[in-house]
This record gives sequence, structure tokens and C-alpha cells, in this order.
Amino acid sequence: MSPTVPAPLNLVGGSWVQAGEPVVDVVDPATGEVVTRIPDTDGAGVDAAVAAAREALADWRTTTPFHRATLLHRLADGVREHRDELVGLVTLEMGKPLREAGNEVDKLADAFDYYAEEAVRVHGETIPNEQHGVTSIVRYEPVGVVGAITPWNYPLELIGWKLAAALAAGCTIVVKPSEYTPSSAVALMALLQPAGFPDGVANLVLGAGVAGRALASHPGLDKLAFTGSTATGAAISRSVAKAMPLSMELGGSCPQVVTASADVDEAVAGCLRRGFRNAGQICIAINRVYVHRSVHREFVEKLTAGVEALTVGPGSKDPDVGPVTNAGIRDRCVAHVQQAVADGARVTTGGAVIDRPGTWFAPTVVDEVPPTTLLAQEETFGPVVGVTPYDTTEEAVALANGTTAGLAAYLYARDLTEVFEIGHALDFGNVAVNNPDAGIMNAPYGGRKGSGHGYEHGREGLFGYLHIKHLRVRYGR
Ligand code: NAD
Repeated sequence: MSPTVPAPLNLVGGSWVQAGEPVVDVVDPATGEVVTRIPDTDGAGVDAAVAAAREALADWRTTTPFHRATLLHRLADGVREHRDELVGLVTLEMGKPLREAGNEVDKLADAFDYYAEEAVRVHGETIPNEQHGVTSIVRYEPVGVVGAITPWNYPLELIGWKLAAALAAGCTIVVKPSEYTPSSAVALMALLQPAGFPDGVANLVLGAGVAGRALASHPGLDKLAFTGSTATGAAISRSVAKAMPLSMELGGSCPQVVTASADVDEAVAGCLRRGFRNAGQICIAINRVYVHRSVHREFVEKLTAGVEALTVGPGSKDPDVGPVTNAGIRDRCVAHVQQAVADGARVTTGGAVIDRPGTWFAPTVVDEVPPTTLLAQEETFGPVVGVTPYDTTEEAVALANGTTAGLAAYLYARDLTEVFEIGHALDFGNVAVNNPDAGIMNAPYGGRKGSGHGYEHGREGLFGYLHIKHLRVRYGR
């Protein structure tokens, strides 16, 4: 059954408002049909949302973390109660299979619970002074009004991580979701009032580039939290109105290194999960694999067989792999594969657009990929994995580190020396060894190099929404 698509309205100071003429089509990638049309909120609309967040901040920042925790737990409960509706909207607009959308919604609820608990664990410290009768207190205080701009590949979780940490910290927030996936964001924000959050604490502006630019460059923000492409992140870094904290969670192109000592079956299973889940549209997706020449042929044969066994279809039918979310992703898959083949690589399975309505690309393995190609250098962000054999550990590390990406890397090795030597040498914010999960909620998660800076998840994720104050008190006479 198709989910009910909510009206495309902004949430400003607790009121749902029409932000202008609908100008952006939101399309079901499995069919090509228009799901809804949204406005691209202009500067005045963004001003109103930022003003509402500023007005709400004065009271919200003085609430106790225990109160904020209670509301966040209620929000988690609300998400669980509306699970089916949220799952349906994610699958409809983004295309991911139902069970993956369900997993996203479950983890969204968990994120609100996690930061509810973390909110009451943040505490300062006292520091002794040389002088008698003087003490130094370290306090954590909310940074203020936050702007949050998010992409479409995890349309709820990527909002939720920012919302949860900002609200737990005592900040107020204006969220601008991706223009490809606005409806699940509207449905999520509609759960805030019933959970008891005061008007204006969390606001929503819909739109694409106009809304995004207006929010990113708004002088009324105290922090900007951005997740999206490296190119947009760089443009935003140049356009912010003033010096303020920025967190940038940017593009990946993640390597997997499979050494001679690896369990090849485990490495293949990891690549299938991390390369093709969500149709490869994950910032921490495996995009390029470097396999020791002694196990290269076995790895490619098993990976190819595994990819050929994946089911492909509309997300609503719950296959292994759904459509890609938009034509830009599909066209980039084509470009990366074609260039690799022109440069001498070989497609072992897939390699082409699937000819049906909507936007589709077949799950693809490309072998003998030259390290200079787009497939080896840039983020494909689709169901395409390129494999390159290597001979020495130094070569594997140089290939893995040899792009601008620094988000996540995967290492499969059973030799302990290899695990630590390569694990330490990989220049990435997250390295997963013999497992495909580089990010968990209670450990810090962030990129380096072209993949950005700042952290989400864990205590560090909360600290991103807090200023430190050194309060030095002389109490002695
Ligand atoms: P995108 O950069 O095109 O868009 C992201 C958001 O920015 C959208 O809301 C968009 O409307 C907005 N935007 C576009 N231009 C803007 C501008 N000039 N100023 C302000 N906002 C603007 O990215 P996308 O295609 O939506 O998402 C895919 C990318 O996100 C991939 O590169 C992926 O790796 C990355 N990503 C990173 C992480 C991470 O944690 N590092 C997580 C998920 C996705």
C-alpha cells in the first residue's frame, strides 16, 4: 500500500506554512512517477525559520538535560509508533528496499534514545588553581541556533543524528532536507510537537539549492551541520556568513583491502554488504577493492557470483538492490564503468543501465581497474565495485590512501601484523577490520581529507553542539 504523502509545508515556530509555489518535482525512482512537488524556500522563508529558532533558544537552552532527555525518549517512541508510515515514505522517495528503510527507521529511534541518555552524562570538571581560594570550572553550554543540511541516501537518519545531538545539547535547529526526499522529513518533524518539544525548537525548510544556499549563508546561525557531497561542502565552506563551528560529513569512495591472509569468503560477504546495500549509495560504501594477487582470482569469482545472486527490483518488493535515486547517479555509474573499460578494465557482471521506467543501474563488478580511472579515484555512489590486484603491503596502502577520500576503509586480514600495520597506515577516520560496519552509534564517526571534518555519533557527536566555557571563580578572601 502506498504511504500517504504529507503536504509539502515548512515548519516554522510550531506552525506549518506554505513556503511558495511548488517548483521541484519529487520522483519515485522505481517508476519515474512524480510523488509530490515542493517549493524551494527563498531567503525570507529561511529568515523566518532562523528567527523562530532564535526566539525559542532563550528558554530551551535553560531546560535541564533531564527534561530534554524525557522529550527525546518520547520522540523515539513516536518514531516507533509511526514506523510503517516513515518506512513507506523513505522507500517511495529514495527507492531503498523496505527492510533497509525499516532498519533506518529503527536506528533513527535508537539515535533519539542514545542522545537522550548522553544528554544527562555531559558534565564539566573543576581544575585546581595555583592561587588559594580560586577554582576553575569547565562548563559545557549549547552553541545556539544550528542549521542542518542533509542528503537523500539516509533521509531520516542523517537528519536524526543532527536533531538528536542538537536538541540534547540545548540547541535549537533549522533543518533543510534533500529535495529528493522531503516527505519523510515532514513526517518526522510532525512528531516533535506531540513529543512535547516547544514551538520553534526544531524548524523545517523545504527546497533545493535556493533554500540550501540561504540557510548555509545565514548570519543568524551559530553552527552549520552539513552532510552531502564534497563539492557542495566546499561551496558551503566558502559561503558561510561568519566564523562559526562547521561540521562537514562529505563524500567517501571507500577502499577495501583484502590481504593474502584474509578469509576470502568473509571479505566477499563484506563487499557484497558494503558495496551493494542501499544500491551502493552510502558514504561509507566500498567503491574500490585492492586484493592481494594470490587471492585475487578467487575473490573476483566469488564476488561476481554473489552479485549475480542479488535480487533487483522496486524497493516496495523488498529486493536486495533497488533503483538508484536519481539520473545523476545512474549517469555517473555509466561514466565510471565506461571509462574504466576504455582504460583496460573488464566487467565481470552488470555494467549497464537497466531499461525500465525510473532510474536503474545493474549491480556491477569491474576487474583490473587502473588506479588512475574515475572509478578508482572518485565516489561512484552507485552499485558498482572496482577491483585492482596488488603485490606488496606498501602498494595496497598507497592505493587505498591515494585519493582525496578519508571517510572509511575496510581491511580483511587474519595476520595480526598486517591488521595493525595496515590498520594504522590507512588514512581514514573509520577503519573496519574483518567486518563491514565502520560506523556505530556510540563511537565517534567522521572523515578527514576531502571527506570533511567534525564528528557525529558518540559523545564527540554531542560535543559538536556544545561550547566549552572556562569559569574561573575566586571565592576566597
Ligand atoms: P549534495 O551535496 O548534492 O546535497 C546535499 C544537500 O545540500 C541537499 O539538501 C541539497 O539540497 C543541499 N545543497 C545543494 N547545493 C547547495 C548549496 N550550494 N548550498 C547549500 N546547500 C546545498 O549531496 P547529495 O547528492 O544529496 O548526497 C550524496 C553525497 O552525500 C555523497 O557524496 C555522499 O557520500 C555524501 N554523504 C556523506 C555522509 C557522511 O557521513 N560523510 C553521509 C551520507 C552522504
